[in-house]
Amino acid sequence: MAKKQFAVIGIGRFGSSVAKVLAEMDYEVLAIDADEDRVREVADFVTHAVTADSTDEDAMRSLGIRNFDVVVVAIGQDIQASILTTLIMKDLGVPVIIAKAQNELHGKVLGKIGADKVIHPERDMGSRVAHNLVSPNIMDYIELSDEYSIIELKAPAQMIGKSLKQLDVRAVYKCNVMAIKTGSSMNIAPNADDLIAENNVLVIVGRNKDLSQLEIAYAEG
Ligand code: ATP
Repeated sequence: MAKKQFAVIGIGRFGSSVAKVLAEMDYEVLAIDADEDRVREVADFVTHAVTADSTDEDAMRSLGIRNFDVVVVAIGQDIQASILTTLIMKDLGVPVIIAKAQNELHGKVLGKIGADKVIHPERDMGSRVAHNLVSPNIMDYIELSDEYSIIELKAPAQMIGKSLKQLDVRAVYKCNVMAIKTGSSMNIAPNADDLIAENNVLVIVGRNKDLSQLEIAYAEG
């Protein structure tokens, strides 16, 4: 399966956090902003960074935006630009549109005009959103420091019925399974022989780059 390609429009704090995390996971990311300085700030870590007005349909068409699998519209304050951009993305046939909302009403409008997912940044951290875009199995993502994080991973099909020993997450991905959750019950410090069952959620700690490898392995099958 080819790796997904992402475009992020609007490189404020939220947009740049989404773009950065995706780029760290080696995904192709196109960053677009009307502000040249914002574009310059992200140019070093994304695949392509361009200065453009996303409400200019012709400009978006010539960037080939419809060829991206997922477009994140991370414009917030300029609600009109956010709505217009989302409409244009829909019109151009972008398969999946994620749009950042400034408030509840804005969110409702974005949903009505075709955003597949609406993000409320006061509730959803940029990094968590990015990890969730890559793998829908990532239920939560908590940054402990610049280097370490904890993820909650819904057990993917390939894990069901296997023991922790068999999966050997520690040797293969250098990450540690700290706990296994099932509904509201929690098995803390699980044994190597404990089997992973359907609906289990694994709480895993590790270095960001190691966790990313694990996520990619289970996201891309
Ligand atoms: P955040 O809360 O994520 O930091 P912000 O408050 O800095 O965001 P927003 O108004 O949410 O700013 O906009 C985010 C980015 O979107 C800005 O960098 C802005 O230049 C860009 N932007 C706004 N309108 C457009 C547009 N029409 N085309 C391209 N980029 C735009």
